[in-house]
Amino acid sequence: MTHAVRLERPELAARAAELRAQIERANRLYYEQDAPEISDAEYDRLFRELVELEQAHPDLQTPDSPTQRVGGVPTGQLAEVRHRTPMLSLNNAFGVEELRAFDNRVRKLLGLPPAPAPAPDLRYVAELKIDGLAVSLRYERGRFVQGATRGDGYTGEDVTANLRTLEAIPQRLKEPATIEARGEVYMPKQEFARINAEREEAGLPLYANPRNSGAGSLRQLDPAVTASRRLSAWFYTLVEEGGSEQGGGQASITGTQSGALDRLERLGFPVNPNRELAEDIDGVIAFTERWHEARHQLPYETDGVVVKVDSFEQQRRLGMVARAPRWAIAYKFPPEQVETVVEDIVAYVGRTGTLTPVAHLRPVKVAGSTVSRATLHNLDEVRRKDVRIGDRVVLHKAGDVIPEVVRVLAEGRSGAETVFEMPPACPICGTAVARDPAAVRHYCPNPSCPARVGQTLGHFTGRGAMDIEGAGWVVLTQLMERGLVRTPADFYRLSLEQLETLDRFARKSAENLKAAIERSRRRPLARILNALAIPQVGEQTAMDLANWIAERWRPGDDEPMGGEDGWLARVARELQRTPPERFEEVPGVGATVAAAIAGYFGEPQSKDLLLDLAKVGVEPERPTRRAATDGSGPLAGKTLVVTGTLVDFDRQGAEEAIRAAGGKTAGSVSRKTDYVVAGENAGSKLAKAQELGVPVLDEEGFKQLLAGEAL
Ligand code: NAD
Repeated sequence: MTHAVRLERPELAARAAELRAQIERANRLYYEQDAPEISDAEYDRLFRELVELEQAHPDLQTPDSPTQRVGGVPTGQLAEVRHRTPMLSLNNAFGVEELRAFDNRVRKLLGLPPAPAPAPDLRYVAELKIDGLAVSLRYERGRFVQGATRGDGYTGEDVTANLRTLEAIPQRLKEPATIEARGEVYMPKQEFARINAEREEAGLPLYANPRNSGAGSLRQLDPAVTASRRLSAWFYTLVEEGGSEQGGGQASITGTQSGALDRLERLGFPVNPNRELAEDIDGVIAFTERWHEARHQLPYETDGVVVKVDSFEQQRRLGMVARAPRWAIAYKFPPEQVETVVEDIVAYVGRTGTLTPVAHLRPVKVAGSTVSRATLHNLDEVRRKDVRIGDRVVLHKAGDVIPEVVRVLAEGRSGAETVFEMPPACPICGTAVARDPAAVRHYCPNPSCPARVGQTLGHFTGRGAMDIEGAGWVVLTQLMERGLVRTPADFYRLSLEQLETLDRFARKSAENLKAAIERSRRRPLARILNALAIPQVGEQTAMDLANWIAERWRPGDDEPMGGEDGWLARVARELQRTPPERFEEVPGVGATVAAAIAGYFGEPQSKDLLLDLAKVGVEPERPTRRAATDGSGPLAGKTLVVTGTLVDFDRQGAEEAIRAAGGKTAGSVSRKTDYVVAGENAGSKLAKAQELGVPVLDEEGFKQLLAGEAL
């Protein structure tokens, strides 16, 4: 017996050391570089194994074991902030049984009878666990003064300036309280999908999930980069002056977690509405079951449910161990992975010519929808995962949105699987495929490749660009096939008669499309730049570039905005001779993007396209003052609500103009609203503004305000 133990011990110690090394490495990649190599489920398995090993053999536990510590260490790039009260992690529960075990532990420590005996004094708050980056925000007398990441729980990184660019973060509270509010900064799923699609097209490494891309976006030296990613936040912890995260000072004001959440909301923080005060653990379990499927419909990612003892007094009695409180637990949703078969791998040509290998899958349901395709990003990735046509694979959705092949089930191969090769010639136009030496992408170098042109035209007419309603794929394909539209400027040369010849088009539909095209002639410069599909330039960079252009080459008061001799044409000529390094002056633009922008405008076709657009009557809206994330701009510090239909702006355009002028937009009217901009058919928001005495502007007044003119 003794002999056996002696034999086992070194093996166990070696296993513990191995697990620690693996976890440390994963922590470094995840917390410090925002680029994990293993899945969260895999990480959780390793972590769980180490916890169990250390529990069974306490002498194997080292003081610096990852089971005793929180997160990573600050990277030293950003200033450090010492937390007044530590920011803890949470213990995990996998499955209902572990939730019940948590309930019984809590009951025992509080001297309450074990379940199912009733314990009316013990209530739990169930909150969605947001998969983001934990931050702590300090407010003094109602003003936001400092924001930090969690770091190692004791020292975090100072991200104050970056947090200030988030609309979700109040600069001022609704009362002059001195508090710390903690919550999660996250990247919405769609933004994650958009950024990764852009990175894929550009041949850049992808983010693994919204949590890592959100963290990467926040932990930046340049707040402009943070501003360019649409991050948001939910708050869930309130530490009042002199309090601690376990009740303490909180109790005097709210006494409970549910009360603290309500108070956070009243102070002006976004608090996730999907929360519940449960009478017992069964109520919590019902909550987790409800969200099991429903979570896939949420616009942000949640990886579980956080269960907290509601009473702060009970929280205080329960206390904490090592890295996590005893009064809370994170129930993790089981990872959604399914198996399917790769029926084919096909290279698709994108708008900048990038060839993306896409797996055609046997349709399968995963994370709320049926999936039949998954991008494999690039050839390196296909090789790294060794995905072959005919393979059985494990599939999940990265960030709950992007279908992704996790791994191949290689042991079941029959030998009939085929290795994918990039086609030597573009599958659409036959031009020899080129390889970008700097990136991992293969691409079709032919700028007139119909696939590239089609995608480019589709992008041009799309939302966020020229927004031509009714010019979807079906119409676009016909216009291209009939040779009516070859370049973006051709849209503005289409006659009613030509439109009437389209399949299933009558006079009325032709008139509607024509009217939509006419309306799109006037758009902010940012939208026109975005419409051009400049490599590496997304919506936000287009906005920053437009502001930079507007400041550098301001239009003269009498200068027409469009036309052959107007401002747009002048800008086109200036852009063509701007050297790459100049574009690095644009906020958030580094050397790579600057080179891409200069490369694009340096091409004579690009200048010609802009000149052509100016000639056919596209004219940018006259730029207002400087865009301001820095507190300047005519609308700095003001919150506006837009309602009803405006003539010269669609909703998105109006909101962009407000932000560009330094203001904020809100979805509902309150006493905090500075102005309501009311167009045609404004309804309840207008009524609310009148009721609260909030100033109401018509479109003319709105334009004056944007232009910085006194009303
Ligand atoms: P955690 O993410 O499991 O839980 C604790 C965190 O949850 C809190 O710090 C807080 O930031 C957050 N949270 C979200 N909503 C909350 C709410 N309503 N109330 C309270 N807290 C809420 O723990 P952790 O220590 O941050 O990270 C560990 C997890 O990170 C692992 O389980 C794994 O999923 C992931 N991870 C993955 C890798 C990898 O390589 N894939 C590496 C390290 C960590």
